[in-house]
Order: sequence, then C-alpha cells, then structure tokens
Amino acid sequence: MDEEPERAKRWEGGYERTWEVLKEDESGSLKATVEELLFQSKRKRVVESHGQVRLGMMRHLFVVIDCSRSMEDQDLKPNRLTSTLKLMEAFVDEYFDQNPISQVGIITTKNKRAEKLTELTGNPKKHIAALKKTVDTACAGEPSLFNSLNLAIQTLKHMPGHTSREILIILSSLTTCDPANIYELIKTLKSLKMRVSVIGLSAEVRVCTVLTRETGGSYHVILDESHFKELLMLHVKPPPASSSSECSLIRMGFPQHTVASLTDQDAKPSFSMSHLDSSGGPGLSLGGYYCPQCHAKYTELPVECKVCGLTLVSAPHLARSFHHLFPLEPFIEIPVEEIQVNRFCQACQGELKDKSAFSCTSCHSVVCVECDLFIHDSLHCCPCCIHSQSVP
Ligand SMILES: [Zn+2]
Ligand SMILES: [Zn+2]
Ligand SMILES: [Zn+2]
Repeated sequence: MDEEPERAKRWEGGYERTWEVLKEDESGSLKATVEELLFQSKRKRVVESHGQVRLGMMRHLFVVIDCSRSMEDQDLKPNRLTSTLKLMEAFVDEYFDQNPISQVGIITTKNKRAEKLTELTGNPKKHIAALKKTVDTACAGEPSLFNSLNLAIQTLKHMPGHTSREILIILSSLTTCDPANIYELIKTLKSLKMRVSVIGLSAEVRVCTVLTRETGGSYHVILDESHFKELLMLHVKPPPASSSSECSLIRMGFPQHTVASLTDQDAKPSFSMSHLDSSGGPGLSLGGYYCPQCHAKYTELPVECKVCGLTLVSAPHLARSFHHLFPLEPFIEIPVEEIQVNRFCQACQGELKDKSAFSCTSCHSVVCVECDLFIHDSLHCCPCCIHSQSVP
C-alpha cells in the first residue's frame, strides 16, 4: 500500500504551453478564444457523463465536513465554513432531485472528534435545517479522519450489498489527529467496498491520495469557489456500480397516504415508526403511509420499513431514478453555418447565436447550447422527440 502513486505530479509533467491556446483575432482581441474555451467547458459535462452502463441507483452517502480551525480561513468568502455549508445545501437539493431513492448523512469533525450532524436519511429538509444551524458553530481544533471514517463505517456496513456505500470528505485542514493506524482502516474500507472521495480546500495530502486510490474514489483540490461547486456537483451523479456489487431484485412497497376518516369517531392519532429514533418533531398524527406488508406507519417516503425491511417509495420517486439507467444520447455538434433554413432553437425558439448548435440523434431537431445542457442535466429526454411522438 505504501508504494508511490503512479500518477505524476503537475510539476513533473510535460511543459504545458497554455498561452499558445490563445489566439488573437484581427482586431487583436482575445475575446473569441476565451468564449470558445468557456463554450467547450460548458459542454464537457454532457459529453463526459456518458458511457457508463451499470450505476448504483440506491445510494448511501455520508458527507464529512471538516469544522476545524482552518475552516475560518477567508480565502472563500466570507469564510470556508459558511461557503461550504451554502454549497452543501445546494448539493443536498440536487442530490435528492437526481437520486430520490437514496440517502445521505452528514458528519462533522473538529477537536479530534467526529459526530453525526444528521443520520442517514432520505429527507432533504432535515439536512438543510441542520446545515443552516451549523453556520453559527465555532470552528476549533484539528479534524480526525480516522474518527470520521470510523463513524461512517459503523452505519454504512449495515447497508445491503446492492446499494452503494460512499463517503465524501470535505477537508480543509492539512493535518489530522488519529487515535490509531489509518492504513488499517483503509484496508477495512476496501474490504467493505466503501468508496471514499475527498475534496481538499487547501492542498493535496498524502493520506487522502492513498485513501481515495485504495477505495476507488476521487480526489480533487479546489481552485476557487466555482470550481468547488463543480467538484461537489460531480458527486450528484451515481457512480458506476463495481462489477463485484450484488445485483438483486428489490421488493418495493408503494403505500398511499391515508388519513383516518373524520367520521370514524374511534380514530386515534398514532405514532409513526420514523419517530422511534428521532427525538424532535411531533410524534402523533392521524394520517400517514402504511406499509402494505406489516402496516407500520410512516410520515415520509422514501423509507425502509423498520419492521419488515420493505423499501417503501412513491411511484414518482422510482420514475425519477430511471433516467440514470437509460441516459439520453449526447447531441451531435453541428456548425450553425451549415443550417440553411430557419436558424432557431427548436426547444426555446431563440435565435442560434453561438457558432455551434446541437442535433438530436433520433429526431434530428436542432437546439442551442443552453437547451442542450438543460435537456441533458434536468429533463433527461428530448422534448422534440416526445412532441413528434404525441402527434400521429
Ligand atoms: Zn413493513
Ligand atoms: Zn434553445
Ligand atoms: Zn429528439
């Protein structure tokens, strides 16, 4: 495990002549090339996100947030902690939008300790409320990678084999205070097939390089705030399922929300099973979702039945996870000059102003770059194809 990573460091690599990419136009301006670079970077995500076959649709992810003294640094505005928590809120929203039958938990680490901010749950509201509260906490001491990972393992190891077990660490400090040998823990993580990724806010740290390489995760160090956001959003998309992970058919229940009828005088409010382990929130309610197998009551979906273990979801949840399995083909880039008749985007009806437009592989309709991004990031289906299907 101790051999040097094969990946070369940036300063060992070939001499990159980045300035040669820039070309002046006739008027001596760089605007055109800069715009071209921005355009290419926009498209990169759509093109890159292709070619994976098996994806883990049910994910269990623990996010570890460093709350040590170094989070007070003001290189991100107003400081690292506030900036991180803001981005995390956006991440949680996006994560549950794209992975509705998955779960997230948040761990914070400071003063050589790690504690759970939120348990592993599929409810974004809980996480966002907890994140909002954390803004006021004081950053203190050193983080502990070992304790954070250990805390995450305790919960993740009980997750079934067909789901993904992931840990994402946002590390600001360059040091960690560990009570035991972390390399032993990395072996444990590897054997439990947990994938650990790290986003560094300061610089590359050797232990994280080993940690991510051994567990198959990714390791990035941020350049600035927008890069930070980009790196965080990379974790919204489900990772490819490892070939060794189990495939299994999952029994799911689709309970409907029922309220004990008002005419029924004997109806009494009852406790929901989801309040067994959480202290806050109202315990008694009249309505709820009843597990079709054992009739345990829950107030929120999706949830795994605590009594019989059945996964309870609503149909829209499942439908929204579906597109990961059948991603939309990337559109083909065509120069706008080649289009003879009406140079308008067929999705938003706007004029095609950029140099390139994008054409759907099946219905050949042409859209602008903004619509291309929107179609691939949010819609996950071609509106022109659907339109032509509905008109016989
Ligand atoms: Zn049940
Ligand atoms: Zn458009
Ligand atoms: Zn189409």
